[in-house]
Amino acid sequence: MMNHRFLIVGAGFSGAVLARQLAEALPCHVAVMDARSHIAGNCHTARDAATGIMVHQYGPHIFNTDNEAVWDYVRAFGEWIPYENRVKAVTPRGIFSMPINLLTINQLFGKVMSPAEARAHLAGLGESNGQPPQNFEEQALQMFGRELYETFFLGYTLKQWGCHPRELPASILQRLPVRFNYNDNYYNKRFQAIPKDGYTAIIERILDHPRITVALNQKFLPEQAASFDHVFYTGAIDAFFGYRHGRLGYRTVTFERLEAEGDYQGAAIINYTAQEVPYTRIHEHKHFTPWEEHERTVAFREYSKETGPEDEPYYPKRLAADKALLHRYREEAAALGNVSFLGRLATYRYMDMERVIAEALEFARHTIESVRNGTPLPHFPNVEA
Ligand code: UDP
Repeated sequence: MMNHRFLIVGAGFSGAVLARQLAEALPCHVAVMDARSHIAGNCHTARDAATGIMVHQYGPHIFNTDNEAVWDYVRAFGEWIPYENRVKAVTPRGIFSMPINLLTINQLFGKVMSPAEARAHLAGLGESNGQPPQNFEEQALQMFGRELYETFFLGYTLKQWGCHPRELPASILQRLPVRFNYNDNYYNKRFQAIPKDGYTAIIERILDHPRITVALNQKFLPEQAASFDHVFYTGAIDAFFGYRHGRLGYRTVTFERLEAEGDYQGAAIINYTAQEVPYTRIHEHKHFTPWEEHERTVAFREYSKETGPEDEPYYPKRLAADKALLHRYREEAAALGNVSFLGRLATYRYMDMERVIAEALEFARHTIESVRNGTPLPHFPNVEA
């Protein structure tokens, strides 16, 4: 078989997992390039110079999955330490436990309700027009009524997304559980962990293979595609096309650094739900590594804003106009000969790490099979746009 020359644009989880799978399965060389000065994309972690604390450079990443294949995969590349995320929310009515659980409900209403009583209480507060919820706000009002919605979600969501919850899909709220017990674990997943030496060390090991080379500080130019048999692009799809039809909407976040002695806030993540507080949350990273000891501490106030030309895109907004624009870019992408699109930015979806890894593994399987059969390679992962 001939030696395939592949280019992978982007050294985040999508690009790294795909590179590894191709390198292990095919006679090939995989060139990975990234415009940034580091691998790991938005999962990048590095020790803070002043305190020695492992900092999630693009905001908190807590790995959580039910997918055993994904869990086994990531554990092959480093040590993971079980970690459960327990978030608090500062509201105009005091500080509460998030996601909404029996303690949150009882404390907000000043009651001591049993699980069944709380369920009945919220059912009574729920406002429904008899139709399935069409947006974030309707979903919230149906699930738990106006008081919980306004205390925990309205202000935070206005800040986080820069638009009204009525404009956002119900699926964003469906990410969060509502529990009628005292379980305050943020996630429902079976496997929840943080890599002992950070995410960048995991991705470094995924990329550590004789058939893979990595070039940093290299901005991809579409002309480069001609020098490879195939290009796998994990950057933003609108950027690939030079934004020729316009920009897809993304939210980005900025951080304000705080340093202190000891423990700044007593928890890894505290949300600030009031619209009047300019930041959405504060994360204190030493709490992500409770197995380490550090005398000083570093925390970050997180602010959300619209993504400008110079900013890193974080959260795809996917408003109606964005979806129409995405459709145009996808049609052009599907007409290209030797380029495929993979991952959060290239498919413009709100994805957790586990989803990214699962899709990269599946996409790699499909690609390897196509190469072996001499059939056209997939342009996109086989999921709904
Ligand atoms: N959310 C909120 N208040 C909170 C936490 C979450 O209004 O205290 C809303 C917000 O719109 C957010 C969504 O719920 O975007 C999903 O929350 P998640 O924690 O999954 O957001 P992420 O960690 O991805 O930023």
